[in-house]
Amino acid sequence: MKTADIRSAFLDYFRAKDHTIVPSSSLVPASDPTLLFTNSGMVQFKNVFLGSEKLPYVRAADVQRCLRAGGKHNDLDSVGYTARHHTFFEMLGNWSFGDYFKRDAIRYAWELLTSVLKLAPEKLWVTVYHTDDEAYDIWNKEMGVPAERIVRIGDNKGEPFASDNFWQMADTGPCGPCTEIFYDHGPEITGGPPGSPDEDGDRYIEIWNLVFMQFDRAPDGTLSPLPAPCVDTGMGLERLAAVLQHVHSNYEIDLFQHLIKVAAELTNTKDIANKSLRVIADHIRACSFLIVDGVLPSNEGRGYVLRRIIRRALRHGWMLGVRGDFFWKMVKPLVEEMGVAYPELAAKQAFVEEALRTEEQRFGETLEHGMRVFDEVASKSGRTIPGEDAFRLYDTYGFPVDLTADIARERGLTVDMAGFEQSMAQQRERARAASRFEAKGQMPAELASQLKPTEFLGYHTLSAQGSKVVG
Ligand code: ATP
Ligand code: MG
Ligand code: MG
Ligand code: MG
Repeated sequence: MKTADIRSAFLDYFRAKDHTIVPSSSLVPASDPTLLFTNSGMVQFKNVFLGSEKLPYVRAADVQRCLRAGGKHNDLDSVGYTARHHTFFEMLGNWSFGDYFKRDAIRYAWELLTSVLKLAPEKLWVTVYHTDDEAYDIWNKEMGVPAERIVRIGDNKGEPFASDNFWQMADTGPCGPCTEIFYDHGPEITGGPPGSPDEDGDRYIEIWNLVFMQFDRAPDGTLSPLPAPCVDTGMGLERLAAVLQHVHSNYEIDLFQHLIKVAAELTNTKDIANKSLRVIADHIRACSFLIVDGVLPSNEGRGYVLRRIIRRALRHGWMLGVRGDFFWKMVKPLVEEMGVAYPELAAKQAFVEEALRTEEQRFGETLEHGMRVFDEVASKSGRTIPGEDAFRLYDTYGFPVDLTADIARERGLTVDMAGFEQSMAQQRERARAASRFEAKGQMPAELASQLKPTEFLGYHTLSAQGSKVVG
């Protein structure tokens, strides 16, 4: 089953169960200062859970574009290291706003997976929140999942809601206990079942999380009940596609294979399983959709997350031997893969290409030199890159510190983060002192020091083509 067909199969199933199909919202949350990016399907419904917004329907389903590259949910450092994590991914979700609750949520999920999509039930494991006997009994007695494949996830830290089976979008807001469905990819892959000491492996991969939204968490941590208990579910489209296409890694599914093939051509790489190709294929999705949703590379906030992801991708290209620009050329195959499901992507192809190309040319000027500096520093620093060197790479060569840490990690090294922060603070202090003598308001030091003064090559073209998305 192609990824595109899985999207439709999911929506068709829930449409038939009286769910209203809603469009994906933007990666930039409409008006939620607690959140950097849309990290799950429920984000656009947050106020509905809290009771301050009413919708004309009580059941909904969608395919939501998500980004986990900052804030509470951040998987950037897992990309290229696990079979199952992306920065950008699509989350299939169904919701009940005060309508059905645990029994139907579980029944729908089980029926879709085992009867419609025909997954072998014996490959599926489930977890429940450790005190949730109701969910346990529905799985065990009504769905017939044997006790040996139901795991109660307790909490080890002694805090009532510290464990994984209590879902939270952010430090505040709607939350609740959840039950999750895992797929066993087989004994040839390392990793233990959920709840076991080696659960972080990639053998048992979590595919679907059913959250029973019951509480609103206040900034002081206290929980108050929501006006009505709700259901919020999220299933990773790429993980489900991997299962249905009989491959282990998300990166082996049809959608990614196309992107990886193009990345291999552009970087002249023979080994299609090369980790850098996976990172590049992941990052082109995140970067393109961020730009579609109105984010442009900058030195702060969301724009800085985008810049960091782009620069990581460019560094992987560089590792593969690329010395010119290549990353923006990945937009076209991405549009071929995802432009039908996301017409807004197809419509902005030229704009996205231009924005990426501009950033690529800018960083291209310092990447090579910065890599040489990194090598010199690494050769004389032992196991830890000193903070002041990480700062120099940041300040002079435009290497975000997480990029330096990523390069270091590949070589078994670490970065002295505290030292980096200290150099950063000293720089701020110097800038503050200097600005006291400046008559005119100067750019903040961090901005001014990040590379050369900005010359945004594509500005005119960009604003002409896409002024509406630049927000
Ligand atoms: P994991 O434990 O594997 O990191 P999670 O518990 O953080 O996943 P949830 O927050 O429960 O994930 O999100 C719901 C679903 O979204 C997951 O069951 C999974 O299928 C999918 N998902 C979560 N994070 C990612 C990611 N980084 N890349 C791809 N799919 C993801
Ligand atoms: Mg996670
Ligand atoms: Mg999990
Ligand atoms: Mg989960």
